[in-house]
Amino acid sequence: MVKLNRQEILNILDGYDKENLTIATLGSHTSLHILKGAKEEGFNTAVVCEKGREIPYQRFKVADEYIIVDKFKDIINSEVQQKLRDMNSIVIPHGSFVAYAGLDSIENDFHVPMFGNRDILRWESDRDLERKLMNESGIRIPNKYKNHLDIDRTVMVKFPGARGGKGYFVASSAKEFDEKIKVMLEREWIEREDIEKAHIEEYVSGCNYCIHYFYSALNDEVEVLGMDSRYESNIDGLVRIPAKDQLEIGLNPSYVITGNHPVVMRESLLPQVFDIGDKLVESAKKFVPPGMNGPFCLQSLCTDDLEIVVFEMSARTDGGSNTFMHASAYSYLLFGEFMSMGRRIAREIKNGVREDRLNLIIT
Ligand code: ADP
Repeated sequence: MVKLNRQEILNILDGYDKENLTIATLGSHTSLHILKGAKEEGFNTAVVCEKGREIPYQRFKVADEYIIVDKFKDIINSEVQQKLRDMNSIVIPHGSFVAYAGLDSIENDFHVPMFGNRDILRWESDRDLERKLMNESGIRIPNKYKNHLDIDRTVMVKFPGARGGKGYFVASSAKEFDEKIKVMLEREWIEREDIEKAHIEEYVSGCNYCIHYFYSALNDEVEVLGMDSRYESNIDGLVRIPAKDQLEIGLNPSYVITGNHPVVMRESLLPQVFDIGDKLVESAKKFVPPGMNGPFCLQSLCTDDLEIVVFEMSARTDGGSNTFMHASAYSYLLFGEFMSMGRRIAREIKNGVREDRLNLIIT
């Protein structure tokens, strides 16, 4: 397969009527604030929507145009791409877009200008590439174990693919690892071939902060726009049960994300927050040009030594940005007006048009 040439995308962008751009995305994940933010900044909006899933966009009145498809993955069909280009669309990627369109198609077959960096999406999806980027940045990440026989403390065991924490477990010895693998197989939460791909990392005991950054390539500035913590089933329900009952019922914890809470951090931790964001942006420029470009998220745990340990990154708008569809404490500090991640994206595109530097932020 031949990777799309960035110049080809910039040529398509060149042919667009810049006074009449549409901001488009797949109807799922974070599309409500992407579309709402685009409307607030004066753009036309389009949603590519799976049949039967159009209700939220109609009821919240955030989409001007609907491209209804049988399946989400049809966003990569050539007719859909043509419709998007006909509307002068810039597509905003998010987690569901990546999952349904697929990385290969986004890199090779999706001939529609996108905001952000289409090449970096592979780096966040592949655990080894993700760790490489974070390691090279000098960010503190959990230590990795090569073999389950080396387990000498509490570890978290994860499996490939975005599965919302399903099948993940905690173990403190090789024996416990084997026992829990058996349970996960029985529950059909993992398959046999997943076992050798198990990713074993140091369990970090701390509070969860998912930090939503925006890197403005136009201003060469890293902004902190919001923070959330995850609401995960069944672990967040399990901890409401008294400890002695937890032992008796013998439930295994799971980490299936079901929602998000907005949070703020102790102010004294903010220098660390900016430091790790800046570092990641610098290494992304080096390893995956043009770098972070737009929204990214560092999912972290803050220990009682007040160290922020990053266990995961998203290199596009992350689901937790739904906690500030209007504003967060941080986006208000910076902008003094309602500013969601979606609106910030639209504002960057608007500035790109005004300054005639759109080619810097489109891939
Ligand atoms: P996914 O990408 O599949 O959603 P994550 O890597 O985000 O999975 O992990 C799911 C959840 O597991 C996190 O939100 C966090 O609560 C917990 N978690 C992940 N890594 C660690 C770790 N190293 N130590 C402690 N808890 C962790």
